[in-house]
Amino acid sequence: MHSPPPSPSLSSLNSIVPRRPRILIAGGGLSGLALANGILNAANFVPLDVMVFERDADEDLRERGGYQIRLAQDGIAGLKECLDDVTYAELKCRYGAGVAEAPTLINPKTAEPLIRLSSFRIYAKARAMSRRVLRAFLLRKVVASNAIQFSKRVVAYDIVYDHDGEHVKIFFDDGTSEVGDILVAADGSKSNIADQVGLNNRTHVHGGYHLASRGPVNEAVLAKLPRVLQNDGAVVDPGDLMTIYDKPYYQDVRVIRLFLQTSKSAFLSQPHLFWAVSFPGHVPPRFNSSNATDLKLAQKNHAKELMRSKGIHQSIIDILDIGSVDTIRLTTEMETSVQPPHNWREIAQQRMGKNGGHPRIFLIGDSVHPMTPGRGMGANQAIRDSAALVPYFANLARSFQNANPEEMSQLVQLTNQKFEAEMLPRAFGWVNASNRSAEMDVSTWTGKALIYVLLLDILYRNVGLEDKKAWEYY
Ligand SMILES: Cc1cc2nc3c(=O)[nH]c(=O)nc-3n(C[C@H](O)[C@H](O)[C@H](O)COP(=O)(O)OP(=O)(O)OC[C@H]3O[C@@H](n4cnc5c(N)ncnc54)[C@H](O)[C@@H]3O)c2cc1C
Repeated sequence: MHSPPPSPSLSSLNSIVPRRPRILIAGGGLSGLALANGILNAANFVPLDVMVFERDADEDLRERGGYQIRLAQDGIAGLKECLDDVTYAELKCRYGAGVAEAPTLINPKTAEPLIRLSSFRIYAKARAMSRRVLRAFLLRKVVASNAIQFSKRVVAYDIVYDHDGEHVKIFFDDGTSEVGDILVAADGSKSNIADQVGLNNRTHVHGGYHLASRGPVNEAVLAKLPRVLQNDGAVVDPGDLMTIYDKPYYQDVRVIRLFLQTSKSAFLSQPHLFWAVSFPGHVPPRFNSSNATDLKLAQKNHAKELMRSKGIHQSIIDILDIGSVDTIRLTTEMETSVQPPHNWREIAQQRMGKNGGHPRIFLIGDSVHPMTPGRGMGANQAIRDSAALVPYFANLARSFQNANPEEMSQLVQLTNQKFEAEMLPRAFGWVNASNRSAEMDVSTWTGKALIYVLLLDILYRNVGLEDKKAWEYY
């Protein structure tokens, strides 16, 4: 256990120190903002302070992240718990219309449907929302409460001690610093706080490259889309599920997702289509161009050629021409993570000294469980983490009132242990499911077992009616 060194204040351990715990959040992304909302709402009833420090300027963030988030039950329930009733009621009206709750598996060579996953009870259903819309709602109360500072990049933390006991001091790249009682790392998949605390659980999935983009869909474009996409709104190809009868194709090319949002939303002036394709068997092509647009055009053309050579249906290949070429993103490796051992903080402390593994550092979202996009659960688990933390922090604030500095440190440690005992198995269940979704190979026992589970689900899907009712409630 981490114990603070002796300080003048700790000589009188029995003194009562009324406190208003100050929570510092590094990162104003989805999890950081959801948590800040939850804390601001809880602060109506318990003494709690919160401040978010976001690396980027607000305008830069608004420009980025114009992609669509699929919110499943964990994310939706998490938002409902973190946001106030009025904001949640407004946000609920902005879920993308015309988007399927679950994708349909297609045969990419014929563009015909194979299986509709919406009929499976165990496949997590989702509602779509532009990330920008979601972020705008999450920012509203935080900005109004002056609880966020932009252009503040957290570069390090230190555990410090004063007359009041133990605290966390964070340092910014502009040379300034802040002190609080708890630091929450919500700084995403490249978290430098996770590095400093010694979590050490990030890995990469290598192999192949991936292209993704989005673009507007007018009547003329809509009419040319595969009928299954027009009808079902979201399609994916079955990946390794099909390797049993067409291994060469499915090892080379994969249409990861095509999502059609047929109604316009507050941030999208017209209906949009989001697409992502993957080339697992290929290294990204190299082109002699320093012009970003030319480079993206060459990448896109290479991808289309590859798809054509593998016999993909022309109506699917044409989808890569939807949208401006500048919005295309090429990724070569996907980030994922492994569940840390239950005693990872002790190990980190032994390895890194005083600041390593310290329980005043909480980790949420991609900072602790980055995952591949296979199941679209990164944001959902990040928001779930935030909702789970709010009641813990509210309890901590109540308990702080009658605790001395040493008891406060113990309470923080206990709180972090309880939070991680719930968060780690839940989130890493999805990390592993996301990794597995790229491994539905029917030639392996795991692949067969997965398909068996899906079939069982069809047989028992009536049992899912209660779940469906709960889902409709959100
Ligand atoms: C194209 C795409 C599609 C996706 N689709 C889905 C989906 O459909 N469903 C789903 O559940 N998930 C999806 N995800 C994943 C999802 O976006 C992430 O899992 C989610 O955003 C994680 O939230 P977070 O708060 O942990 O991190 P982020 O939202 O990444 O926020 C991290 C924030 O921290 C800031 N920051 C970083 N370093 C520092 C620092 N040192 N100091 C201060 N601030 C810092 C960053 O600027 C950023 O604002 C998708 C991701 C991508 C890229």
